[in-house]
Amino acid sequence: MALVVAALASLIPSFGAGVHSLSAGIIISSMQTLLRNAMIVDATAPEPRPGNVLVEDGMIRDVDAKRPSGECETIDVAGRTVMPGLIDCHVHVVASLMDIAANAQLPAATAVLRSVPILKGMLERGFTTVRDLGGAPYALAEAIAQGLAVGPRLFVCGKALSKTGGHSDARPRNDTHDANRWAGNFGALGRIADGVDEVRRACREMLREGASFIKVMANGGVASPTDPVHWFGYSVEELKAAVEEARDAHTYVAAHLYTAEGIVRAVECGVKTLEHCNRVDAGAARLAAEAGCVAVPTLVTYEALAEDGPGLGLPAASVEKIESVRKAGLESLAILRDAGVTMAFGTDLLGPTHVRQSEEFRIRAQVLGAREILASATLVGAELVGMEGRLGVVAEGAIADLLVVEGSPLEDIAVLAEPRKNLRMVMKEGVVQYRAGV
Ligand SMILES: [Zn+2]
Repeated sequence: MALVVAALASLIPSFGAGVHSLSAGIIISSMQTLLRNAMIVDATAPEPRPGNVLVEDGMIRDVDAKRPSGECETIDVAGRTVMPGLIDCHVHVVASLMDIAANAQLPAATAVLRSVPILKGMLERGFTTVRDLGGAPYALAEAIAQGLAVGPRLFVCGKALSKTGGHSDARPRNDTHDANRWAGNFGALGRIADGVDEVRRACREMLREGASFIKVMANGGVASPTDPVHWFGYSVEELKAAVEEARDAHTYVAAHLYTAEGIVRAVECGVKTLEHCNRVDAGAARLAAEAGCVAVPTLVTYEALAEDGPGLGLPAASVEKIESVRKAGLESLAILRDAGVTMAFGTDLLGPTHVRQSEEFRIRAQVLGAREILASATLVGAELVGMEGRLGVVAEGAIADLLVVEGSPLEDIAVLAEPRKNLRMVMKEGVVQYRAGV
C-alpha cells in the first residue's frame, strides 16, 4: 500500500453556523482506497444500493467507481453494508469517573490520560464524530485532528454553564468553598455563571476558547447533588442572554433539561437543541417542533446509572434521583416523534459506562423506526456540528468517514448495538482506524 503524508493547510474548510474548523492536521492515507462490492446504506435512501466506494485524500470521490485511475488499495467488502461513520451528539469525553465532583479534581495529566481510551473506544464503536456537551477543551479536538490522539472528530462547547446550585455545581451540600475552584480543570464538565452579565462573559470566554456552541443547564440533574431535576436551571433573562451571545457568534445554545415547563421556557428563549427531554409532554413537544428545535434524548445513560452507578461511585444523592427520569424515557421518544420533533442521537455516559454507548440503538428501536434512528446518528448529527452534506452521508464529495457493517441497519438498526460482533471496519477521513475480518 502506497502511503503519502499530506500536510493539509486546512483539513476542514470553515463552514457556517460559527462552528470552528480544525486546521493544520497531518494525515497519512493511501492515495486511493476502493471499497468493492458494497451495499451502500445511508439515511437519505430507504433501501441499500450496490456500489463501489472510491476514497482519495480523505474524501469520497465516487460511489459507483469502475476502475481507479491511480495507485489503489482495494478492499473487497463482499456485499456487506458500507455506511457513514456515526455521530453521537451528547458525550462527555473527559468524564472518566462517574462521580463528576471527583472527576473535576483529577490532576490534569491523569484526567487527560484517562480520556484517551474513552476517545479510542468511541472510534472503535464506529463513532467518527462526537459533540462534547461539557468538559472537553478545543485543544483536545485539535490534538485529535493533528493525530496526537486516536479518537472521533470532536466538536466542543468548553464547560457547561449553570447557576449556583445548578447541574454544574458538583459541591456536596456542606461544601461552602467557591463553586468554580475546580472549573478550570481538564476534568471539570461545567462552571458556574450567575446573572446576565456573568452568563454573557462565560459565553464569550467559551467562544473565544474555541466552543462550537454554548451549553447551559436549564433544569436540575441526576449526577449533581443539590438540584432536584424539576428545578429550573436558569432564569428567562439568563437564557436569553446566552442565546443572544451564541447568535452573535453565528451558533446556538444546547440546553440540558427534563421537564415540560423547562422545555417550554428554553424554546421560548430561543434554545436550539434540547438535551435529554425525558419528561416532555405533547404541548412542549409541539412548541419545540414549531420552533425547529432538535431534541437529543440520551436514554442509555439512565440504564447505566441505575444498573452500574451505585457500584461505580455514583453518590447516593444521585442514585435517588435516577427513577424520576428513567421510567419516562421511552415514552418521551414517542411524544417527540408524534409531535414531529427532529431527534439527534446522544448517550451522555460517564466513567466506565462509556462501553454501553451503542446500546442506545437497541433502546430507541423499541419505539422508533430504523431509518429514523439512522438519520439521528448521521444526518441530524452532521447538521448540529455544521457539517451537513460533508458528514453523515455516503456521497461524492463527503468526508470519507465510513463503516463496514455485517447486516443491514435499515432493516434492523440493532446490528449497530453490537459493534464487536458486527463492525468490520472503521475509516475516518480516509484512514482505516479499525479493521476486523474484512
Ligand atoms: Zn450530559
